[in-house]
Amino acid sequence: MAGFDGLAQTLAERQQQHLYRHRRVLESAQGPEVQVDGKRYLGFCSNDYLGLANRKELRDAFKRAADRFGVGSGASHLVNGHSALHHELEEALAEFTGRPRVLLFSTGYMANLGAVNALIGKADAVFEDRLNHASLLDAGLLSGARFQRYLHSDVDSLENKLKHNDSPRQLVVTDGVFSMDGDIAPLPELCRVAQQQGAWVMVDDAHGFGCLGETGAGCIEHFQLDQQQVPVLMGTLGKAFGTSGAFVAGSETLIETLIQFARPYIYTTAIPPAVAGATLASLKLVREGGHLREKLQQLIKQFRTGAQQLGLELMDSPTPIQPILIGDSDKAMAMSQALEEQGVFVGAIRPPTVPAGSARLRVTLSAAHSTEQVDQLLDALDNSRKVLA
Ligand SMILES: *Cc1c(COP(=O)(O)O)cnc(C)c1O
Repeated sequence: MAGFDGLAQTLAERQQQHLYRHRRVLESAQGPEVQVDGKRYLGFCSNDYLGLANRKELRDAFKRAADRFGVGSGASHLVNGHSALHHELEEALAEFTGRPRVLLFSTGYMANLGAVNALIGKADAVFEDRLNHASLLDAGLLSGARFQRYLHSDVDSLENKLKHNDSPRQLVVTDGVFSMDGDIAPLPELCRVAQQQGAWVMVDDAHGFGCLGETGAGCIEHFQLDQQQVPVLMGTLGKAFGTSGAFVAGSETLIETLIQFARPYIYTTAIPPAVAGATLASLKLVREGGHLREKLQQLIKQFRTGAQQLGLELMDSPTPIQPILIGDSDKAMAMSQALEEQGVFVGAIRPPTVPAGSARLRVTLSAAHSTEQVDQLLDALDNSRKVLA
């Protein structure tokens, strides 16, 4: 087509670099066993860490809410899309996180764009871990603030950059649990340094909520961090909560600032009220889910022990994100393919999602997996190892 020649060229290059991405069609609900493109697989790549996405409690709550509120929310929160269920969920999440207020966003990506850009602008500075999620990096870049990346989880590197900066507002931004590595940020130390230098801290705990802490309240509960230490706390609902959407928790002033100034909050349609209704049911399961978190820890231990016996290179992760480092993108793809031939579905993650030369199989575990299923994964990994030679 005229005018698109350049694009075809770019696509061809992507293909030559073996970085071309394809979508697979899922024909079943999320769960340990999934149907993809007509075949049954044992799945180890979902972020549904507690196995809640297809729980009856959530489906029932969703249907009840849809019967009362219909499907579409009809408008943005500031027009007339803010339903009683959205409101109730915000209040329940505020109580859950121990913060005065919570604001719902339609996606985590938008929550990050909205929060960062409501807080800082061109005159300010933003400090990001170099392995932060793409949405946090994009948020920082969009703000026009002086953009600085510090070494991964390196408190000295952050301190050094903060000390050499005198912008009026300084925002330190980090994943709580790193999405492609599974490790936990050293939040108490990061917060101490930020406080000493007068910087605000924002934590994106997309992968900590549900999995970490006594009641599943994530990194802030795991480390016992209060609002002084982490004034901007972000979580997503599409992972361990098993639904969709996201939220920011914090002070009255923070939330009012977001309502007035966060454009991805203001100019978008609210999530369906039924999703909020289902999330209320899911929040209850998360809070009472101590047994699910224990089960998850047992599976993590079983997987790590088995994978290490096979001589596979794991990362320093205590969470259900258990990547196997491969390095070469083609090898990671070949390994993923070999697993698939044995009926095991694990995604290969390649640059630019991860740094060059660090392609990996991103294995994720769920409390819904059985120990037998983890053994099946380990057997399949054993049989696929030859592609690495
Ligand atoms: C998934 C994810 C997001 C984006 O959340 P969505 O609701 O999927 O848009 C943001 N941050 C991190 C760390 C994530 O893993």
